[in-house]
Amino acid sequence: MQQLATDVLIVGAGGAGMYAAIAAARGGASVILLDKSLVGRGGATVMAQMTVAAALGQQEPDAWTIHLEDTLKAGRGLCNEELSALLCREGPERILEMAEWGTRWAREEGHIKQEMAPGHSRKRCCYVDFLNTGPAVAATLRRRVGEIQAIRRISNIAVIEILVKEGRALGAVGFHVADGELVMFYAKAVILAAGGLTKLYARNSASANMGGESYALALWAGAELVDMEFVQFFPIGHLAPRLVGMDPIMWDPFRYKLGGKLLNGLFEEFLDRYGGEDFGKYTAMRDRTAYAILKEVEAGRGTPHGGAYLDFRHVLERDLRAAFGPVIDRLLANGIDLTKAPVEVGPMAHYHMGGVRVNANLATRVEGLYAAGEAVGGANGANRLSGNAITEAFVFGAQAGACAADYSRRAELRREILPARAAFEGLEALSHGGAKEKRTPALLQAELQNLMWEQAGPFRTGEKLAAALRRIKQMQQEDLPNLRLSQDDAFNLDVQDWFELRAMLTTAETVVTAALARRESRGAHQREDFPDADEALLKNQVMELKDGKLLTRWVSPVRGRRVGADHG
Ligand SMILES: Cc1cc2nc3c(=O)[nH]c(=O)nc-3n(C[C@H](O)[C@H](O)[C@H](O)COP(=O)(O)OP(=O)(O)OC[C@H]3O[C@@H](n4cnc5c(N)ncnc54)[C@H](O)[C@@H]3O)c2cc1C
Repeated sequence: MQQLATDVLIVGAGGAGMYAAIAAARGGASVILLDKSLVGRGGATVMAQMTVAAALGQQEPDAWTIHLEDTLKAGRGLCNEELSALLCREGPERILEMAEWGTRWAREEGHIKQEMAPGHSRKRCCYVDFLNTGPAVAATLRRRVGEIQAIRRISNIAVIEILVKEGRALGAVGFHVADGELVMFYAKAVILAAGGLTKLYARNSASANMGGESYALALWAGAELVDMEFVQFFPIGHLAPRLVGMDPIMWDPFRYKLGGKLLNGLFEEFLDRYGGEDFGKYTAMRDRTAYAILKEVEAGRGTPHGGAYLDFRHVLERDLRAAFGPVIDRLLANGIDLTKAPVEVGPMAHYHMGGVRVNANLATRVEGLYAAGEAVGGANGANRLSGNAITEAFVFGAQAGACAADYSRRAELRREILPARAAFEGLEALSHGGAKEKRTPALLQAELQNLMWEQAGPFRTGEKLAAALRRIKQMQQEDLPNLRLSQDDAFNLDVQDWFELRAMLTTAETVVTAALARRESRGAHQREDFPDADEALLKNQVMELKDGKLLTRWVSPVRGRRVGADHG
């Protein structure tokens, strides 16, 4: 079995992982940066095409404290204010550093151009033209990472377990899909940057490699999770016609800039039936829009793909082109002519506010284990402002990388094979399993995705959540050990899917358990049976595993300037 050693091991090479690698190397550490996909090309970062929020104050006067105020307001009282402050304070420096490294932010009269976006009180969202932000920043970071000798990049390794002994992270076990072998990585510090969980949902803005593995790996390693119930659903994600190589959540600016009409399957405007005013204004809040679309679908008035129409046929082609020129051509290349036909849109899982519980150094309670990017919970509370997620990936990546490098200077490398027992047992069980079930891991993943969408989606009830939890536990105990797997050694995707499914089930259990316990509606967590916010629940929900059981407790949110959370 192959064994590799390094100072800092980074799991996941999206925006957060790559930034962490650069920062750790800057701190003098040797780094292994690994990804289950290709380094810098998997996950959400490379897919994001819109904006990045930072109080640069180049478009109009702004300050990071105003960005913080907006972020806390959107977070509905649940933000970890230390993390939110870190995000807003360091954001501008990261954006300027990315410019130095070659990111061509859109400019106007010599300065970085910044746009308004919902929830922000200033023009502070920068971007790379046109719908190219994610690919451009990923390319900058890939180039930068490639220039640094201390960073070793390894693609196509899925981490299936963090090695922990006596409360200290010692490295990780990876599964190499090309040859079906396990690889041991020993490290003085480990950073979890494996992204979010949108793959848990049948309807999502991106699914590849987003099975919530960060959260399961952290939990199994002994770290805590926080606010797992807060999944952000984007109300008007693209459903149909098929859209290739374009961002499924790009319709928001189209709608508020050009006045796209939302119509039900009968081509009627319907938002005003659900409170507020939208006709002719196109400013309905995201949660109201999502609710209205799903209720129309429930009433049998949805579109063929189960959403609503977004219609721009009343907008002149000249105006469409003036606002989004090259994008109109890319849509036409996809066979979508907005002057002739509406598109279908609907709510979809898009981002996760909850995640691994860390302090302001991005350290978990497990010594030597850090987290960064969307894997981290708390900075955005109950809801996230648009543009804050990429900033979070950069800022938290930089902070986690620097702190892990610092820690690695004081830590010793320990090579121990024993703590990897769970991974070996998993693999051993797989080679003997496969007897009872006819289904493959991919099929069970699809069932889980539908279950999560139907029972734990944008609008939840206690009854549906309880049913989801029962089925998830049954899948864990009865189905997972008995799935049918190919016995090939090389490129055995069944085995990779099985490990991913194992993590997806654990993460789904945390989301559903937390959603069941939060008997109120707040931000992105909407309970139809508890439609109002309950001030007694102005608390974060913390989860941990004890003797294999998921335990939850409520804690007061980290406020203001208290430095360092309650775990070191
Ligand atoms: C379509 C879309 C559009 C978006 N638009 C915006 C936007 O305009 N502005 C904004 O601020 N945010 C946006 N977001 C959100 C934002 O892109 C993400 O929150 C952010 O990029 C997350 O960065 P990350 O590095 O934490 O995770 P990711 O970029 O998702 O990277 C995680 C990496 O971990 C790898 N990985 C996963 N599991 C394992 C494992 N077990 N072992 C090894 N590797 C693993 C994955 O392959 C992936 O490469 C968008 C998201 C999507 C999906």
